[in-house]
Amino acid sequence: MDLTYSTEQRRFRQEVRSWMEAHVPAEPLSSFDATREGFEAHRAWERTLSEGRWGMVTWPESYGGRGLDLIQWLIFEEEYYRSGAPLRVNQNGIFLLGPTLMEYGTPEQKARFLTAMASGDEVWAQAWSEPQAGSDLAAVKSTAVADGEEYVLKGHKIWSSRAVFADWAFGLFRTDPSSQRHKGLSLIFFPLNAPGVRVQAIPQIDGEKGFAEIFLDDVRVPAFHRLGGEGEGWSICMATAGFERGLMLRSPARFQVAARKLVELYKAHEHEVEASVRDVVMQSWMDAEAYALSIYSTASRLTAGGQIGAEASTNKIFWSEMDIALHKAALSILGARAELLRSAPAAGDIGKWLDGYFFSLAGPIYAGSNEIQRNIIAERMLGLPRS
Ligand SMILES: Cc1cc2nc3c(=O)[nH]c(=O)nc-3n(C[C@H](O)[C@H](O)[C@H](O)COP(=O)(O)OP(=O)(O)OC[C@H]3O[C@@H](n4cnc5c(N)ncnc54)[C@H](O)[C@@H]3O)c2cc1C
Repeated sequence: MDLTYSTEQRRFRQEVRSWMEAHVPAEPLSSFDATREGFEAHRAWERTLSEGRWGMVTWPESYGGRGLDLIQWLIFEEEYYRSGAPLRVNQNGIFLLGPTLMEYGTPEQKARFLTAMASGDEVWAQAWSEPQAGSDLAAVKSTAVADGEEYVLKGHKIWSSRAVFADWAFGLFRTDPSSQRHKGLSLIFFPLNAPGVRVQAIPQIDGEKGFAEIFLDDVRVPAFHRLGGEGEGWSICMATAGFERGLMLRSPARFQVAARKLVELYKAHEHEVEASVRDVVMQSWMDAEAYALSIYSTASRLTAGGQIGAEASTNKIFWSEMDIALHKAALSILGARAELLRSAPAAGDIGKWLDGYFFSLAGPIYAGSNEIQRNIIAERMLGLPRS
């Protein structure tokens, strides 16, 4: 792994930086989980990105991308977070379903779905979890019964992020009703406004509507909406989960920027806090940098044709625990002020730390809980017996 940037990579970084400086909204957009207005403002930002061909730089040009490699993607992400640009409302689409479609979709499916995804015209939700199938995803009960050239979907999905305002969902369904566990499952897309779909918001810890339950009652979709072969849903979902845990969903830049802000916060309050906080702040900064180096190493390996394996699980545990520690450090610096909500008149930037802390608490749960990741590491990396 060569740790120096090439002339071309430095030029690319400058191009991203200049574009972001010229286009990032001056005022932060309101949350995409709270109101339709906030959601649509984020969709409009996705369109602006896509007009500049920044929607997903690693995608082929024919789908609105730039055909760049993973190292350039990491550079893009560093500049993206550095600029304070809005969070990506279509992250389930561009970071999870997009790469999966690229690998398993037919040319017709790619043409139909990828460009509209990259442009934000169609925002996606992930509909895998069910009330009794979270960690144990193979316990999925929702069914998709073939009827001519269509599937009829029935069931109950839960914890679907962005589903309240999103346009489409990709769900895991049992296409063979007599099948058990990992067999007989298929990945199927459905529009969230189709007849028979009912989306019910679940309030989050901060009161926003970041999740939803989805009730499906005889929802008809064409067979064209099945990704991969019938019964191949499990292996396709595991490929998606690899993207989610391993590289795409949480790029290091997000944590590096947060760690730098933490250092600034510490410097501003150095004389008010206990000496031990200094160590925690330094550890957070070092962890964020170490995570970035580790991801550069993974990206180099993938670019050279390697595969991401069980280390997706170690990455996921690392970034989720680092994120909590980093936000806890900020709250300990702020003391009682940390309790100011974002909406409080005196909050200023302080409210963002509490928001970030609440969200960090979900990190060890979503994208496969950390206990499950530890089971994967024990069995597949260390070769320990199943418990
Ligand atoms: C912020 C957030 C966003 C999410 N977004 C989505 C989404 O968009 N789409 C979607 O489909 N789902 C989503 N989820 C759901 C998420 O995938 C599940 O919450 C997660 O898989 C855990 O499942 P569960 O909640 O049913 O908990 P359970 O599976 O019931 O687990 C409860 C506890 O038991 C532990 N546990 C369970 N089994 C084992 C085991 N074998 N060994 C050791 N410990 C175990 C778990 O680690 C956990 O601590 C989201 C969740 C969160 C928090």
